Amino acid sequence: MAFIDAQSQSIYKRDFSKMGSKFDITVVANSQNEADEFIDLAIDEIDRIENLISSWKSTSQTSEINKNAGIKFIKVDAELFSLIQRSIAISRLTDGAFDISYAAVDRIWNFDKKNHTWPDQQTLENSVRNVGFENIKINEETSQIFLSQKEMKIGFGAIGKGYAADKVKALLQGKGVTGGIINASGDMSAWGTQPGGKAWKVAITNPLDQTKNYGLFELRDKAVVTSGNYEKFIKIDDEVYSHIIDPRTGKPTKGTLSVSVFAPKAELADALATSISVMGADAGVYLINQLPDVECIIITQGGNVINSKGIKINTYEN
Ligand code: ADP
Ligand code: MG
Repeated sequence: MAFIDAQSQSIYKRDFSKMGSKFDITVVANSQNEADEFIDLAIDEIDRIENLISSWKSTSQTSEINKNAGIKFIKVDAELFSLIQRSIAISRLTDGAFDISYAAVDRIWNFDKKNHTWPDQQTLENSVRNVGFENIKINEETSQIFLSQKEMKIGFGAIGKGYAADKVKALLQGKGVTGGIINASGDMSAWGTQPGGKAWKVAITNPLDQTKNYGLFELRDKAVVTSGNYEKFIKIDDEVYSHIIDPRTGKPTKGTLSVSVFAPKAELADALATSISVMGADAGVYLINQLPDVECIIITQGGNVINSKGIKINTYEN
């Protein structure tokens, strides 16, 4: 009979860059070698997902859809097809605050540049003319997608990292990894426990003072995602705006400093964190309070903290 000593398990962590972002993966394993094997598999999986869904990769199926906007239906893998279906469902849930076809607006904003002035109204109106999830046509029988307007394009910037975190978690669970955390630049998905049975704890940065944590939260088989505009932001006429765009107006959003969403899946949490940044704190918390197993913490530009009904902060760190 094999003797398994649970106490010999340790925590191993690796940092790396993928999908244009910083990732780190923590796994519970019996040795460095075993942990390395798990993390290598995770990185392969992220590469696979990026090659399939990234609009930045010219050979991805998403790029194929974009190149054929206004031209024809494109057959895609079931995996991408259902990601698009779920994205459309979130657009409906959020009245279009979340929209993967926001990407057409991106053409008028260069977020690598910090200082902007307002484009004229005509330019803004033109930019949203080609945005609208209703114009993403899907054919379930043939697994095909068609963007019905010529200048349309889609991008998974607001949901892709969450999706990747969920997929990696499922993969490692399938390999028998008893506990871990996937951190896709702030999109955190955990499962199991630390060796010895303690819950994983994650900290949320206080956007008002980034040297401090807003709180420590236990993450039991759950995800938490933070959309903050204190890292990526632009200034328009000296006012701070986020890199998240309201797909209905073409304007960058303001009002929230950071939005953290807890949900069973990182994908949903990711999409909702972006949505709340567009909807604003009041409408956002109202939506979250209707959804089962979903919670949020919103910090407004004015420094107010707005929590959904089920939030319990376990520890404050000062
Ligand atoms: P981050 O990935 O920077 O933490 P988010 O998850 O909130 O932040 O995603 C922001 C990204 O989503 C933007 O960089 C852009 O690619 C895309 N995006 C911006 N506005 C929207 C929107 N209204 N709906 C869907 N995607 C959006
Ligand atoms: Mg997001």
